[in-house]
This record gives sequence, C-alpha cells and structure tokens, in this order.
Amino acid sequence: MAELRFTFGTMGSGKSTQVLQIHYNLRARGLTTILTTQLDRSEGQVSSRLGVSADAEIVDSTTNLFDLVRQRIRADGHVDAVICDEAQFYDPVQCEQLATVVDDLGVDVYAFGLLTSFQGELFPGTTRLLELADIRIEIQVEARCWCGERATHNARFIDGHQVVSGQLKVMGDTTGPAAGEVSYDLLCRRHWTQGARAATGDQLELLGNDIARPPGHPDRSGPVEVHPQDVPTPLHATQTGEYS
Ligand SMILES: [Zn+2]
Repeated sequence: MAELRFTFGTMGSGKSTQVLQIHYNLRARGLTTILTTQLDRSEGQVSSRLGVSADAEIVDSTTNLFDLVRQRIRADGHVDAVICDEAQFYDPVQCEQLATVVDDLGVDVYAFGLLTSFQGELFPGTTRLLELADIRIEIQVEARCWCGERATHNARFIDGHQVVSGQLKVMGDTTGPAAGEVSYDLLCRRHWTQGARAATGDQLELLGNDIARPPGHPDRSGPVEVHPQDVPTPLHATQTGEYS
C-alpha cells in the first residue's frame, strides 16, 4: 500500500539532506521518482547545506500535482515515489492532490516541510499535510538557542530585529529602497516569544531569573537588555570562570 509520509522540522534540521538521501536510495534500487521543490536556494534543484544537490521539478501554486504525476506515468510507464521538498509552501489543495496520488495512483509520497512559520503558526500546507498524512515524522532538532535550550522556533530578522509580520515567503532578499537585510535563526520558545512581543510592541517584563546573554550573541529581542551587573552573582561568576 502506498503511503503519504510527512516529515517536518525547523529550518536547518536537515530536511533537504533527507530529501536527497531518499531520492538517492530509491534511484539506487532502480525505482522511478519525481523530485519536486519550490524556488529554493538554487533554481530547479534541491540542494542541502552539505553541498549535495539534485535536479528537481519546480512547483508553483498553479501546478496540479496529481496531473504532474499522471502525465509522468503515461510518459515513463510508472512512477514509484514522489519526493517533495519545501512542502509547507504548497497550497492545501495541492496537499490533497498528493493524497490522491497515493490513493488513486498507488504512488508513495514523501513530503518534507517546516512545521511553523516565523510568525509561530502552522503553514497552511503543513496544516493540511498533518491532517492527511498516513505517517507523520518529526525531525528531532539538535540546534540550540543562544541560551542553550532546544531551538524549536523559526525566527525572521530584519536588520537584526525579530519580526512577526510580513509575507510568509521571503527568500532572504527583499526589494525596495526601504527593505532591510532578512535573515533567519532558531530560538527556543521563550526567546522567540520574547522577541515576538517586542516586535508587536507589547510591554515586556524582565524576569528576575533571566539569563545573561553570552558574548557573541547580539541582542535580538528588542528593548530587553541584560547587563552583567544585573546578573545574579553565582551565574556571572561561573561565566567568568571565577566561581568558587
Ligand atoms: Zn532561548
């Protein structure tokens, strides 16, 4: 029985590397696959940060994924699997088309995507895939927030300041004279929320047990700053190596 598998994680959790690994493994077994992506870091390819890449079909919001697979079956005789990178950007209707590829064409689908956006909410495509998938797999995150906690939230920064409004899809580059430099980073929920509140202008309360920001980590959380003299003595002493 064919299945719809949805694998999700944060940015930098190795999704594209897994996409390329599955693509390679299935091809090595002589299976016919279709690799799809959205416009990504390189045009018409899935590429991982490890430097591996493979040619891919570019999907946009007008692509009918069911028709794409059916046409390929007519041309090549059969298709064994469809592997989708950047699936969070799919329209919910396209996610339904993937489910129909599984059910009506008997083709396995491996979809990979982000769980939540820089706004801290499920992407529409992700929501539909979670609803429809036969198997849901979370990539366990090894990344850490600057504070040392597990980094579970994607944050977008413009000129170093966290933002929670704007287009869902920004390729790290914007147009217009007023546009700042867009970058992304991973934070723990607590510090993502702190930055999000600062971005929306909410009043922040600095908790008495807040943690000092280690050297080399710029303050991206808006108006909140932690000064060394405000840090409780034991923690501060530990950081300078003079704790006794
Ligand atoms: Zn943190």
